[in-house]
Amino acid sequence: MDYQAVLESIVEELRPQLGRAGHVASYIPALARVPATQFGIALRTCDGVEAAAGDSATPFSIQSISKVFSLTLAMQVAGERLWARIGREPSGNPFNSLVQLESEKGVPRNPFINAGAIVVADHLVAQCVDAKAEILGLLSDLCAEPIAFDEEVASSEAGSGHRNLALSHFMKSFGILDHDVATVLDVYFHQCAIRMSCVQMARAAGYLCRDGAHPRVGARVLSEQQVRRINALMLTCGTYDAAGEFAFSIGLPCKSGVGGGIIAVVPDRLTLCVWSPALDATGNSLLGRCALERFTARTGLSIF
Ligand code: GLU
Repeated sequence: MDYQAVLESIVEELRPQLGRAGHVASYIPALARVPATQFGIALRTCDGVEAAAGDSATPFSIQSISKVFSLTLAMQVAGERLWARIGREPSGNPFNSLVQLESEKGVPRNPFINAGAIVVADHLVAQCVDAKAEILGLLSDLCAEPIAFDEEVASSEAGSGHRNLALSHFMKSFGILDHDVATVLDVYFHQCAIRMSCVQMARAAGYLCRDGAHPRVGARVLSEQQVRRINALMLTCGTYDAAGEFAFSIGLPCKSGVGGGIIAVVPDRLTLCVWSPALDATGNSLLGRCALERFTARTGLSIF
């Protein structure tokens, strides 16, 4: 298949819609300044073929896409212990909701809502010498380029993250967090503030379509079973309250972030990253979602 031609045609078709609809996330001040009129897409196949179009080399704030990689690191260092304090069900509530946590005694529904990712960060603080450095190390190793935090975004999140503070203190009151809230949130805010391009992200996610094998070197990132579980969580919980709609119209495990990025996995075939900052009402990239629908319609690639 000529993936390069497919990606270029998607960029051409969607370009006229850039800046027409959707809104850039504004609740994190540093993200509100990102120009909406950008669109990039990149993929990498299991055997290393790459294709990219549009603003695919422009770094963006990966935000909640980082939850896939922090979960990966936590699976490496904490293993099954992780699941004692985190569920595996879609929440059916906003990603930063406090409501469900109350009735469920502080145990987050899944690792991709904020509360769940904060518990994952708590595990990383317990198991890593320097959790922030290890997250960057994992991503840099996976995509073979140095990856860094955007410190301005991290401090913007810390200054405006009242809900994440509330979620963390709430969980702490139930005994769900082992470490102090400031330490855990410092890891969480930094992982959300990582900057990567679509090309880097499509490379880094490569182990998700290769049954856990490293995208380049002959090492293993996770076991086949662990990667199957991550892909299952991405399908059921990866795109906020639109996971059902994503499964219905795209049919691939996806994880989105409020920076406008979305990664998608075609098991045994390829990983793909699309980015456009304007979000729809569900908090997913509006044009990113359109692009993924076109990609699966055109290529016939879906897990169903
Ligand atoms: N840093 C964001 C927050 O905690 C991440 C949100 C997202 O991308 O879903 O609110």
